[in-house]
Amino acid sequence: MNWIFVGASTIAAQYMIGAVRAQAGQDVVWAVSGSPDRVAGWAERHVIPNATTDLAEALADHDASAVYISSTNEKHFAQAMAAISSGKHVLCEKPLALNQADALEMVAAARDAGVIFGTNHHLRCSGTHRAIRDLIASGRIGKVLSLRVHHAVHLPPNLQGWRINDAAAGGGVIPDITVHNADVARFLLGEDPKCVVAQMASSGMGEGVEDSAMSVWAMPSGAMVMSHESFTHRFAGNGLEVHGETGSIFAQSVMTQEPVGSVELVTEDGRETISCSPHSLYAQGVSDFTKATLGEGRPAADGIDGVKSLTVALAVREAARTGKRMDVDYEGVS
Ligand code: NDP
Repeated sequence: MNWIFVGASTIAAQYMIGAVRAQAGQDVVWAVSGSPDRVAGWAERHVIPNATTDLAEALADHDASAVYISSTNEKHFAQAMAAISSGKHVLCEKPLALNQADALEMVAAARDAGVIFGTNHHLRCSGTHRAIRDLIASGRIGKVLSLRVHHAVHLPPNLQGWRINDAAAGGGVIPDITVHNADVARFLLGEDPKCVVAQMASSGMGEGVEDSAMSVWAMPSGAMVMSHESFTHRFAGNGLEVHGETGSIFAQSVMTQEPVGSVELVTEDGRETISCSPHSLYAQGVSDFTKATLGEGRPAADGIDGVKSLTVALAVREAARTGKRMDVDYEGVS
């Protein structure tokens, strides 16, 4: 399968070009960017044969059947809608859009066009998160009482652009990281947060957007979720804990792009280290997506997963803005 990459981005360069090339018989054949100056050099650097600033030109290539979108967030909607209407499968970066209505429209359009639509939530593709989900699903910790997600990191200097100073481009830690935490909670617990309380702050990096947030979510089962995300924490580490009636799971350094980290299960029998597959998160995501285009299974995170993670993040931001508890509104999301 040949891919069109829309967005000459860091994530494409660092992970996604390699993730496509790790699949047998797949390659990236177009780079599309908004900048004529950048796109030719970027394509050359990454050995991509075609470069353009005209998305329609790339979409007219009948030998390319998939589009990966990693532009800034405000561009995802229009680019995805164009790709879908040209009959291509679409793997779109999170957050899918700036609002729920646009995200829903993207998913509905893909459904109507009969193409596969995925959201690039990489964490649920990791060996660690899949092992944790299996521990929970197989009853090793009993009824889940709570999940604590520690995802306060230090945004590297090369990414301290639109994320920290451009609300119109979809900047802020909530659209950037809370969406991932929402997807992790949904993936691990198999249910959707129903209401949230939250606070947000600008703690040194954010200019006009929040760079830190803490929130507490109630799940339909009664489990509670605590989510902490930030761009300003240099030495906080990262991880998650899931606490159940008969056991607890401690996962360290697993909120990351690399196949690293550890998972331990603690029960009355003692502490057990859980072995986890060390595969690439992004290659796994592309592999799952590719299989879905062939009629096998579904993308690791599909369009509705992307709509729901965005919906939770927007509820967190609204709760933080208003100081009120917000119900997460999934009306029309299915
Ligand atoms: P970048 O800031 O690297 O790229 C975003 C856009 O900025 C590019 O499309 C490009 O525009 C422009 N750009 C990038 N570098 C430069 C530069 N040196 N000079 C001028 N313009 C530049 O964003 P990220 O890669 O961090 O994020 C892109 C998307 O991917 C976002 O939606 C983000 O949320 C998502 N993401 C997802 C991750 C995941 O693990 N799932 C991880 C990181 C990001 P143009 O294409 O027009 O040239």
